[in-house]
Amino acid sequence: MPSHNDVRDTQMPTKTADQPQPSSTNEDVIGQFFNAETAPSTALAQDFRTGYVAIVGRPNVGKSTLMNHVLGQKLSITSRKPQTTRHRIMGILTDEQMQAIFVDTPGIHSKEVRAINERMNKAATSALVDVDLVLFVVDSLKWVSDDELVFQKLQNLNVPVVAVINKCDTIKDQAQMFTLLQKLHDTATFTDIVPVSALRGQNLDELTRVIQKHLPIAEPIYDAEQVTDRSERFLASEIIREKVMRASGDEIPYDLTVQIDTFKDEPPHQDPKTGKWRKAVTFIDATIFVERQGQKVIVIGEKGEKIKQIGIDARQDMEKMFDKKVMLTLWVKVKKGWSDDERALTSLGY
Ligand code: GDP
Ligand code: MG
Repeated sequence: MPSHNDVRDTQMPTKTADQPQPSSTNEDVIGQFFNAETAPSTALAQDFRTGYVAIVGRPNVGKSTLMNHVLGQKLSITSRKPQTTRHRIMGILTDEQMQAIFVDTPGIHSKEVRAINERMNKAATSALVDVDLVLFVVDSLKWVSDDELVFQKLQNLNVPVVAVINKCDTIKDQAQMFTLLQKLHDTATFTDIVPVSALRGQNLDELTRVIQKHLPIAEPIYDAEQVTDRSERFLASEIIREKVMRASGDEIPYDLTVQIDTFKDEPPHQDPKTGKWRKAVTFIDATIFVERQGQKVIVIGEKGEKIKQIGIDARQDMEKMFDKKVMLTLWVKVKKGWSDDERALTSLGY
């Protein structure tokens, strides 16, 4: 058992040939202002549509996978364990015709045993307020009581609800699928029913068309380049959480949270000794909180192997997502009973 609390992923940022060069001359600064004033405004389509789209459904039906694949970018973490998603995440899809702002929710579920579950349910239900469209995601293979629960919550909404039958790649028995389709058809709840495979990206174009059809004609709210309203800091903590959950099997349920202690961007700079230019790098220190000493041992792994791998995997994902070098330091601490303690939850940002 390791005697220390922290294990470091000591990977240094690798050097590359294309070191940035200093470039901010006076001309550049003046040029920027000039370009900003004279840049032509991009003409919007007359019937450009903008709106909020809530993605709801019981845990594990593939809501996060669906949002990531519709956006073509990974924003929301996914895993085989239910309740991987704890927060509302906004993903923004902008094309020539529309801007769809997705709200990914934690799965609504019936077992409100502990404080954290209750908070998650509140977040999921409040996501249904003030949206223009709801995507109700179901698994093509099973309809269970938690599906029924979410379905009930959709009954009195004043917005269109589209049923998305996900995981169609797993269907072997057509008859089973037909039963589900019939059941969804027989309710007056859904304006459309769209079968997809989020994982394989099948029929997502059709889904995008259906979404566009239901959004109100309005100007975009966000810049076309913006894909999320979440900070890099938040995304970093979610990436770490995903890696811990994936690496630790069933021993670590969701008694786990990640706190970002430091998030420091260092701009490109000249090394005072060698005079060489160094790329921008982001220093991230994070603490993984678990509930029990036994869980801490699992997360750290034998000789620190597991936490080292978690650090490497998380850092690589962050570098891809943020498009810059990352130096990541991870710590593992036991914070007893935090998921039952309302005050502890608030201090961790729930
Ligand atoms: P969420 O809890 O509803 O957000 O579900 P996730 O997006 O985290 O997905 C739960 C699990 O289902 C993950 O293991 C996904 O890889 C898997 N999954 C999601 N979409 C599909 C799909 O279209 N086909 C298959 N076969 N698996 C999927
Ligand atoms: Mg999710």
